[in-house]
Amino acid sequence: MQAIKKVVIAGGGTAGWMTAAALSKLVGQKLDITLVESEAIGTIGVGEATIPSILTINRLLQIPEPEFLRETKATFKLGIAFENWRKLGHRYIHSFGDTGSGCWAAGFHHFWRRGLNEGYAKPYGDYCLELKAAEANRFGLLSQQKVNYAYHLDATLYAAYLRKLSERAGVKRVEGMIDHVVMADTGDIQSLRLADGQNIEGDLFIDCTGFRGLLVEDALKTGYDDWSEWLPCNRAVAMQTESQADPIPYTRSIAHGSGWQWRIPLQHRVGNGLVYCSDYLSDDEATALLHRHTTGAPTTDPRLIRFQTGQRKQYWNKNCIAIGLSSGFIEPLESTSIHFIQNGLLWLLLMFPSQGIAASVRDEYNAKLRREAEHIRDFIVLHYHLTERDDTEFWNHCRTMTIPDTLKHRMELFRETGTVYKLQDDVFAENSWVQVMMGQGLIPETYHPIVDQMSGPELSQFLAKNMERVDQGMAQLPDHTAFIQRYAHL
Ligand SMILES: Cc1cc2nc3c(=O)[nH]c(=O)nc-3n(C[C@H](O)[C@H](O)[C@H](O)COP(=O)(O)OP(=O)(O)OC[C@H]3O[C@@H](n4cnc5c(N)ncnc54)[C@H](O)[C@@H]3O)c2cc1C
Repeated sequence: MQAIKKVVIAGGGTAGWMTAAALSKLVGQKLDITLVESEAIGTIGVGEATIPSILTINRLLQIPEPEFLRETKATFKLGIAFENWRKLGHRYIHSFGDTGSGCWAAGFHHFWRRGLNEGYAKPYGDYCLELKAAEANRFGLLSQQKVNYAYHLDATLYAAYLRKLSERAGVKRVEGMIDHVVMADTGDIQSLRLADGQNIEGDLFIDCTGFRGLLVEDALKTGYDDWSEWLPCNRAVAMQTESQADPIPYTRSIAHGSGWQWRIPLQHRVGNGLVYCSDYLSDDEATALLHRHTTGAPTTDPRLIRFQTGQRKQYWNKNCIAIGLSSGFIEPLESTSIHFIQNGLLWLLLMFPSQGIAASVRDEYNAKLRREAEHIRDFIVLHYHLTERDDTEFWNHCRTMTIPDTLKHRMELFRETGTVYKLQDDVFAENSWVQVMMGQGLIPETYHPIVDQMSGPELSQFLAKNMERVDQGMAQLPDHTAFIQRYAHL
């Protein structure tokens, strides 16, 4: 095994600069880290909604939150509102909060389910502080209660900020176009040759070149698992617009006839896009639809993006690790890509191969990431499949398609017993699955027997107590925009 002294990161989008920042800060003391990027190619320029795990990487990088908010023009995100997903005119929020609290044997939704039978349960979301705060456009950090949140951020500013941190920590940046990947006799990557003749050698290569996967696919021919049978959307058109109102603390996901639209409110503008399936909608129709459904003057031209959902057969192949879009893509419905970059990085840091790459480490890394990607895939498929919509061919396809067995099992278990288990390497906790399954109309037929230990009045009081906690939190939360201005010293 060859010791790893020189790491080369190919690509300087969100994935490249997150990798550079994390490696340089956390294991960089004895490493020589070079990042190659091409301004001529540029970055994908989307990827602006996150999930709460981003707080972990920010903590590891010791990023002060007010500075982060200023540098990336970020707003707070408490969840996602899904509009028209279950049926036209219906709306629910998948929030990052805990909805009530249950007991060791049964989550809160079991108690709520009996309360529903007996007529004293309020709507499920009313027991969640984050959800109520999102609806009321409030956000704050409370001393007595944890508020679970993530951010909406400007992708270009985020990469620029991470670049600053990385260069400060010693990462060398090389501007140039990689036009050849030089292979060693062992089948490993030896160096990257740039169009201007420079040759960049390394021991470990991180492929952050985006969808193309210049190293992991073009050079190493790793292969790809195609998931479009379950996730048929394969295009997006993205466009930024001026803000017309204060930013709300949640993402809007609005289903249309052949896909869905995102609205991501930042401090200075709104990010918009339409994700769709080209079998049912042309690019021109998609662009026109997006224009019709955005408010505020456009500040960029619509940008067309093609993708195929799926994952690389190996995330780590030979001496190359694919991070970011080069490793696969599970469409942005639950904002999981930046999380997945971070996850790949955390496992790499935990298993960093300073003394050389052991096959067992590579296998373990691949197994973990594949498992997590498959859980995320199932969660996203759930949104499409569990719908009552029958107004277009697209929704008829999604509603009637065959789904992965793993997801089928989860849905049946929930329908029949109300049970959801958090599986190993599943980023989405029990309450996320519950909120989306119930939001999409799947209400469990029964509840856990432990709930019947309570009398009717006891259960009613228990539900009321859970509501009290939400009311107490709400009474202390300030307006979202006012909080950002004060907290980030804008
Ligand atoms: C429609 C859409 C919406 C999305 N929304 C979200 C979201 O809300 N939340 C979320 O978490 N994620 C989202 N994502 C995913 C997110 O955009 C990406 O995970 C993230 O931006 C990382 O991209 P990347 O760095 O892998 O690729 P890119 O941004 O494409 O960067 C690739 C880099 O490689 C360089 N490069 C490529 N070829 C060469 C070459 N030959 N020589 C030199 N350099 C080269 C480029 O210049 C660039 O620097 C979305 C993705 C899409 C498609």
